[in-house]
Amino acid sequence: MQTITYIVYLVASVLFIFGIKKLGSPKTARQGNMLSSIGMLLAVVITLFDQRVLTFEYIIIGIVVGSAIGATMALKVPMTGMPQMVGLLNGFGGGASMLVAFAEYYHILNTTGPEIEVATSTTIVLSVLIGAVTFTGSLIAFGKLQGLVTGKVVRYPGQHPLNALLLIAILVAGIMVILDPGKTDLLIGIGIVSLVLGVLLVLPIGGADMPVAISLLNSYSGLAASMTGFVLQNNMLIIAGALVGASGIILTIIMCKGMNRSLMNVVLGGWETAGQGGAAAAGGSEVKGDVKSVDAEELAMIFDAAQNVIIVPGYGMAVAQAQHAVRDLMNVLESKGINVRFAIHPVAGRMPGHMNVLLAEAQVPYDKLYAMEDINDDFPNTDVVFVVGANDVVNPAARNDPSSPIYGMPILNVDYAKTVVVNKRSLNVGYAGISNELFYYPNTLMYFGDAKEAITKLVNELKEL
Ligand code: NDP
Repeated sequence: MQTITYIVYLVASVLFIFGIKKLGSPKTARQGNMLSSIGMLLAVVITLFDQRVLTFEYIIIGIVVGSAIGATMALKVPMTGMPQMVGLLNGFGGGASMLVAFAEYYHILNTTGPEIEVATSTTIVLSVLIGAVTFTGSLIAFGKLQGLVTGKVVRYPGQHPLNALLLIAILVAGIMVILDPGKTDLLIGIGIVSLVLGVLLVLPIGGADMPVAISLLNSYSGLAASMTGFVLQNNMLIIAGALVGASGIILTIIMCKGMNRSLMNVVLGGWETAGQGGAAAAGGSEVKGDVKSVDAEELAMIFDAAQNVIIVPGYGMAVAQAQHAVRDLMNVLESKGINVRFAIHPVAGRMPGHMNVLLAEAQVPYDKLYAMEDINDDFPNTDVVFVVGANDVVNPAARNDPSSPIYGMPILNVDYAKTVVVNKRSLNVGYAGISNELFYYPNTLMYFGDAKEAITKLVNELKEL
């Protein structure tokens, strides 16, 4: 049985690795999900049949209740709510690792006594620490994004020394437990203080930076699972946890690079006023001037005369759920012989791949989606760029204004096109909380309105031409 278990674990691990690789491209992402799910099913089934599993009743009840809750949540959550859902699930992963570590600790104490090997006791302590921090940290992240906890950067005197003190206390207690594993109270203490630390570490981070924090916590939940894998001596859990840990940290780095920010800047609450302050509060120059706005009829004529169009989607498209209207626009333009492509910024929206997922849902062909580096040089040869609910990712201040908080962030060079049309509801700021000089450029036209309604109107006008 043991050999079969190992072989199945190996197969499942290979499926996970190929699954993650295939998630790297929208074309193969569904296949990747399927491969990883099959891997997970194999891993769960073989673990259940492993002789250590004594009773199926609780497991079946757990699977039924958990699947029902999970499926309902996944079906109900809007795409814009995905970051908090991922955050919540990370948290449960961390909490589960902590509980399993405790359970295994008591199991070993009750069966073989307090003579626990150093390697095992070390991983128990680490599982409890990382699992607990991930659990409460993720709950706070969820609360911030859901509006249940203040989204503001929370600062108080002595914040960093207090966190350092708690961490030192945990480490000292951890060493004592490792040296003398019978110290049950100390391990419980580590768990409690780690739960508090999770709250204190995530509370200061601004609500707008939560997606990055969630990606980091996702990485932690993988590490916690991996540690628990060492505790249980379960190779599958070690590998799966390590994959989550590594991919979580890679994703975090991609997000930080896309914003040209350091992880420290995010974790310490860098963009204080993000999303609410405006340029004056967040830094950067206040932009003033006249904007030119167009209505659907005028815009339809501008599009009708174009040969090349690039559509740049942003967070506003997700908020308005305008992806289907955008697809209709693509279809009507193509029916007029106009070449339509999409330019996707790596941090457009509120999570990596956000725009790709929405456009794929609306059946926009993958080969029409271009990554920033593949399309940025084409803007000068483009007749019309249509920016749909994007703001920061097309803000030229990132190139021109050294005082801007987003200075240095790579952007889509939409302003180099002959005509830029920006669709949003107002001149309001985006995530970074800064004004956008693009709206005042001579080659920019503002098309105000909710993306879904405004684009539907535009499509109707185009059909009538
Ligand atoms: P922004 O947040 O900069 O701007 C979105 C714009 O959409 C707003 O200015 C808003 O303007 C407009 N909008 C909102 N609702 C609607 C609607 N119903 N119809 C039309 N427009 C609407 O979005 P971007 O995608 O340009 O940039 C993403 C930002 O998020 C970047 O700063 C990035 O760093 C950050 N970020 C991204 C992450 C990722 O992984 N993708 C993770 C964390 C942060 P108005 O109110 O006037 O309509």
